[in-house]
Amino acid sequence: MKIETKFSIGDKVYRLFKDHVQTVIACTVCNDSKQVEIKGTMFKCPNCERGTNSWKLRWFVHTEPTTVGQVSVQAMLKTLHSSNYFDESEIQGDEGTSIEQYMLSATGIGSGTLWNHNDIFLTLKEAQDEAGRRNDVLIREEQERPT
Ligand SMILES: [Zn+2]
Repeated sequence: MKIETKFSIGDKVYRLFKDHVQTVIACTVCNDSKQVEIKGTMFKCPNCERGTNSWKLRWFVHTEPTTVGQVSVQAMLKTLHSSNYFDESEIQGDEGTSIEQYMLSATGIGSGTLWNHNDIFLTLKEAQDEAGRRNDVLIREEQERPT
């Protein structure tokens, strides 16, 4: 059995990470003037008082590259994904599936964070493009569900 991994020891890679960002939503009640006029008297905008900030999950890229220090692959039969059963002789071509994880110098090698292969990239541009794609999906999901 021959296992090919997406990255090798020593590769310089860029990693994606998720974080919450505070987004300020413009107040449509007072047009962000923070006050409303009722019968000639100005009051603090009750909609702004309630808070128009919200925390959203977004993908980011660590712009500093880091180095692959450990590669971990679990290979298994697709049909036996959750089972302990493992017979190497049965793993051939498309029948096999694998989980690739990497330890990076920036987050600890030997013990530290395990990074999934789909969260790390060889170039900053690839990483940024993927972060943009994932954020587009998040934004679309937020717009589809009422807040
Ligand atoms: Zn307001």
